[in-house]
Formats: sequence, structure tokens, C-alpha cells
Amino acid sequence: MSDAERSTRELLVELLKDFYRRGWVSGTGGGISGPADDGGLLLAPTGVHKERIQPEEFFTVDPADGSIRTAPADPSLRPSDCNAIFCLAVRERAARSVVHSHALSAVLAGDLARDGDHVAIRDLEMLKGIRGVGNRDTHLLPVIRNTPREGQLVDQLSRVLDDPRFASSFAVIVADHGAYIWGDDVWEAKRHTEVYHFLFEAVVARRDRQKEDTP
Ligand SMILES: [Zn+2]
Repeated sequence: MSDAERSTRELLVELLKDFYRRGWVSGTGGGISGPADDGGLLLAPTGVHKERIQPEEFFTVDPADGSIRTAPADPSLRPSDCNAIFCLAVRERAARSVVHSHALSAVLAGDLARDGDHVAIRDLEMLKGIRGVGNRDTHLLPVIRNTPREGQLVDQLSRVLDDPRFASSFAVIVADHGAYIWGDDVWEAKRHTEVYHFLFEAVVARRDRQKEDTP
């Protein structure tokens, strides 16, 4: 393993601890991935407490088809159900790091789509934290329907990633579930994750205030 992959593993572990403290990967939910050596993808295991994952506990997978290249020594660990979703974002959007959040704010922001397929975000300085987006832009964020198993989200996700209305989006909300957020390296995925969670909270808080202001 190269020094670069070793430090990426340590960074992913650090981020999982931080995201856990923020309530974004609690109850063993959520996940994270980042670049491995030789174009592979580091993938966190499923069903484990995300804040306790160790650097040596990541799988590496081939983003072309999600096949496992290397597995951690502990045979009880299984690769994340996010595998197919993460690999799709890598292939379709050239993402090199993807975060899966189970944050309440993502669920509540998804509710704002109602029967539609997106949430529109505008009038927030924080929009500038998303690559290529300005604070005068209206940013459309796709919202897809939840499925019994995470891997079954692939078809819907593939459709919204191809939709030109969402070309500037680095995130997809899954209704009643959470969100997938990505970047072209771990640091950009971290920034986008923080920015989108701010935006989720902001649109929900503004909607609540509008309701209170309506007589
Ligand atoms: Zn999930």
C-alpha cells in the first residue's frame, strides 16, 4: 500500500468520527469511500459503528463493476451496500470520493420535493462552496424514492445523473433515507458534505419560518 493510500484511509476514518458526532452517520448508517491505489475505490464495511472503523478495515473495489479487489483481514466484515451507488458516481461523475449521509436534515429537505423530483436552493452565500455554483444561482438538487435495499437505488440514480437539469449537482437526496454527496477528491467530498448539510438545514428552517409567517 502506498503512503498516499495509507493517509487517505486515515483521513476517511477521521471524517467518519467527525460525521458521526454531527449525526450524519449514526446508528451504523451512512458510509464513505475514497481513492485507493491503482484507480481502485476504498469502501467502508457495512453494519458497523462508523465512528470506530479502523484504517485497515476498508475494502478496495473496482469502480468499473464493484468487484472486490482486497478485503480486510477480519472475515466478519462485509462491504457496504453503497458499493454499486458509489461506483456509479465514480463512473458517471468522475467522483473519487463519495459520502453517504443518514442525516435528519437530508430527510427533511427531501420532504420539500413533495411529489416532485427535486429541491430548489437559492439565495444563500454557502452555495459558493459547491464547485461551479454562485450565490445568485438556483441550485436544483435531485430527490429519488427510497427502495427496500440500497443497491436498488442504482436505476433511479443513473437517470438523475444523466438529467441535464442536475448537471451542476454534487449530491442526490434519497427520500426518507438520506443523501449521497461526492467530490473529485476526499477534501472536496468533505467540503461538499458540509456545504450540502448547511443547505439542507437552511431550506428546512426557511420553510418552517414561512409556515409560521403565513396567517
Ligand atoms: Zn443508507
